[in-house]
Amino acid sequence: MSNQQLQDIRQRLEAALAVAVTPTLPGSEPGAGDVCERALSEMESDLAVAAINLRWRTAKDVESALRRLESASYGVCESCEGPIGTKRLRALPWASRCIGCQSADELATQGSQGPGSLWGDWPDVFFGGIQ
Ligand SMILES: [Zn+2]
Repeated sequence: MSNQQLQDIRQRLEAALAVAVTPTLPGSEPGAGDVCERALSEMESDLAVAAINLRWRTAKDVESALRRLESASYGVCESCEGPIGTKRLRALPWASRCIGCQSADELATQGSQGPGSLWGDWPDVFFGGIQ
């Protein structure tokens, strides 16, 4: 990878990190209004928590990618130590694994956690990350 490409990736990572750490505030005060409004408000809070968790996770991934850039291990799969494809890095600059290892991991996760596989390893983040 050329210095120009690395510089470009660093800028994209830093931009993604800035977005990920920008706080979002829930829209409405909980506890106000009728039952429907309260239910809606609770749902909004749940979504806000979910969004914050996703951002927190992305921020960690991006910080990790920036560290890999510094240590020249960027673009190397952390599982098989093979190269992570350029296309994959363009789509997901903070990817830490090649598509083969990521797919294998997601399949394993789906098998062990049943439904909800859309979010991959979401439950770990959701239940383990905020305690
Ligand atoms: Zn791999």
